[in-house]
Amino acid sequence: MRSPDTKQSVFETLLVCVLTLVLAACGQESSGPESTSGTTKIPKPVQPAILLVTLDTTRADRLGIETDLVDTPHLEALANRGVYFEQAYSVTPTTLPSHTSMLTGLYPADHRVRENGRVIDKQLKLLPVQLKGRGYDTAAFVSGFPLASQFGLSRGFGHYDDAFVSDAAERTATETTDLAVDWLKGKASPLFMWVHYFDPHEPYEPPEPFRSQYPGEPYLGEIAYMDQQLGRLVTAFEEQFQGRPLKIIVVGDHGEGLGDHGEALHGNLLYQGTMRVPLIVAGSGIEAGTSDRAVSVRQVFDTVLDWSGESRAGSLLGEQAEPVLAEALKPYMQYGWQPQFMVILDGIKVISSGDTEIFDVRIDPAESNNLDSQIEPDPALWDAIESYSIRALAEQDEQQQTLSQEALDKLASLGYVGSSGSSKIRDDAPSPRDMVHLFRDMDIGAGLFIRQDYAAAIPVFTRILEADPYNFMAALRLAVAYSVTGDDVQAQKLFDRARAIDPSSTDLRHYQAMHYLKNEQWDLARPLFESVLAESPDRIPALAGLAKVYSSQGELDQAIRLLVRIAKIKDSPGLEWARIGELRMALRDTKGATRAFEIARKMLADQFTFHFELGVLYMADRRFKEAASSLDKVSSQDPDYAMALFKRAQASVLMDENDREKRVRQAWLQADKTTRPLIESERLFRDISF
Ligand SMILES: [Zn+2]
Repeated sequence: MRSPDTKQSVFETLLVCVLTLVLAACGQESSGPESTSGTTKIPKPVQPAILLVTLDTTRADRLGIETDLVDTPHLEALANRGVYFEQAYSVTPTTLPSHTSMLTGLYPADHRVRENGRVIDKQLKLLPVQLKGRGYDTAAFVSGFPLASQFGLSRGFGHYDDAFVSDAAERTATETTDLAVDWLKGKASPLFMWVHYFDPHEPYEPPEPFRSQYPGEPYLGEIAYMDQQLGRLVTAFEEQFQGRPLKIIVVGDHGEGLGDHGEALHGNLLYQGTMRVPLIVAGSGIEAGTSDRAVSVRQVFDTVLDWSGESRAGSLLGEQAEPVLAEALKPYMQYGWQPQFMVILDGIKVISSGDTEIFDVRIDPAESNNLDSQIEPDPALWDAIESYSIRALAEQDEQQQTLSQEALDKLASLGYVGSSGSSKIRDDAPSPRDMVHLFRDMDIGAGLFIRQDYAAAIPVFTRILEADPYNFMAALRLAVAYSVTGDDVQAQKLFDRARAIDPSSTDLRHYQAMHYLKNEQWDLARPLFESVLAESPDRIPALAGLAKVYSSQGELDQAIRLLVRIAKIKDSPGLEWARIGELRMALRDTKGATRAFEIARKMLADQFTFHFELGVLYMADRRFKEAASSLDKVSSQDPDYAMALFKRAQASVLMDENDREKRVRQAWLQADKTTRPLIESERLFRDISF
C-alpha cells in the first residue's frame, strides 16, 4: 500500500538503474524528495528506520495470535499486516545468551555466553556497531538486569538506557515505553531502536486492570499488559517516521514452562513451551503472510543488517531453510546432568540429552509422542546436532567471574545463580527431563540461598542430595549453608563430598577459602584463594578475600595491590579506595592515604564515612582549611567524634579563627578519657581557659 509518490519514485529509481546500469544501487527503496524528476542523479537508497522489540519469557501459544485465552490486539494487528513465523525458536532458554545471539547472529556455542551474568567477549561484532558503520543512529531501552550494560550488549549503541539498575532489577513496560517514546521525539532516520520488555518474567504481577481481567492467570495478565505498551511504542514509532520506510521486528527471547513436562519456569529443558517464541516481521514492502519454516532468533541479526542495505542470505525473509539449533546447558553446568541440545527442520525436532527424543511438533506440539523408534529423521539433523554439541562442549573454559556482589545479588533476585562451568559428563549422569521432580526443590533452595536464609536451605539441599547423590551444586551449597550457620563439622564434610564429585572445581576452592576466612584460618585460606585467582584473576570476591588474608598477615602492600586491582574492575569501588586509604595510613604513607580517601569521598559522596581519617591526614600535611572542613563533617555518632573535636580545635587555633576559644572549650566539654588529657596538655591551647 504505497503512496502514489513512492510509486513514482520507485519507477524513477528503476529507470535510472536501467539507464546507468548501476545495479548495485537498485533494489533499494528510494526517497521521494531526493529523486526529483528531470535529473539523472542516482537517488540515494533510503535505509528504513528499524524497531526491534524483544519480549522476555513470552510463549508463542500465549498470545492472542494463537489462543483465545488472552487478548493481545496490538500484536495481532502487527501479525496481520506482517509475517508471522509459526516455528520460531530461541537458541537457549535464558535471557542474556538469547539476546546475544540476536545481536551477533551466532549460536551460544560460538558467542560463548551460556548464562546470565557473563560478560560478552569484546571481540564480537555486535549489530549496533555494524549499523553505525552503515550510518545508523542506534538506541536501546532494556527492562531487566540480565541485559544491564555491564554485561556488554550496550557496546556500540549510541544510547543505552538501563537506568533502573541503580535501585532495582527490572522496570515495567510503561516506564520503558515512556523513555523510548520520549527519546524518539525529533529523531531522524536511519535509526535502529531496540526495546526490551521484561514483564512476563516471574514474579507475575500485572497492574490493573489486567490483574482483574485475568483472575488466577497473572502470566496472561502480564502478556496483555505488555501488549498494551507495545501498542503505544509501535504507534509512536510509526508516527515519527510517517511517510518514510520503516521495519518492525517483534521476537521473544524464550518462553516459560508453565508446568509443561514438569517445568514451571525456563532454563532447564528444551520443550516447546520455553523454546518456541513469537516472531513477527512487519513494515514497508513486507507482504502479509505466515511462515511455517523453522527459524532461529539469531536470524534477527541478518534480517536487520539486510534491511540496512547489507545483503544477507540468513535474513528471516530469505528463502534459506536450514536445521535450527538450540541448547540448554544450565543443568549440565550446575548439577552435572546430561548436556542438552536440540535441532528442528520441517517440523521434526530432535532433543539429545544422553538419549534421544524425536517429535513431529506440527502434529504433536505437546511433545507427548516420542518417535525415536518409529522414524529416521533427515541425516542433516544428526550432522547438525552432533557438530554443534562438539563445538558447544569443546571449550569448557571458565568464563571470568568479574561481577560485583551487588550484581550477583541482583541476578539472584531474578532467580539466576551462575556456575563456574567446570562440569564433566558423568557416564551415569541423568537426563534433566528425568529429574523434573527436583526442579521445585532446586528453585526453592536457590531462592532461600539467595535470600541468605541458610538455615531453611539446609533441609532442602539435603533432600536434593539424597535424591541425586552426585549433585555438585547441592553439595557445595549445603557446605556453604553449614559454614554460614556455624556448623563447621558438617561444612567440612560437605566440602569433602563436593570435592569427591568434582575435584577440579574452582567454585569449590573459592567457597572453602571463604569458609576458612570466616574462621580466621588465614594460612588455610591463602593458598586456595591464590589458586582460584591464578585461574580467574578478576574474580572480585576472591580478590577481596585474599586482600583480607594479606592484611591480617601484615602484608599490607600485597593487600593494597589486590584492592587496586578490584578498583580497576569494579564499577564504583568507593569502599575499596577507602580501605586502601586505611592501609596506606597504617603504612604511614600520608600522601598515598590522602589520595585514596579523596577518591573514595568522590565516589561515595553522601555515603563517605572517613571524614575523620581524612581530617587527620590533612592536619599531618598542614592543610588546615581542608582538615577543618573534613573534621566538621564527622558525625556526633562517630566513635572518633571527641577526637575530631580536639583536632578541629587545633586546626582552629593554627588558622587563628575567631571562634577558636569556643572550639577548644567545646572539645574539652565533650572530651572522653582519651582526649581530655590530650586537650589539657596541648601546648596550642595553653593561652585558652576552659
Ligand atoms: Zn529472558
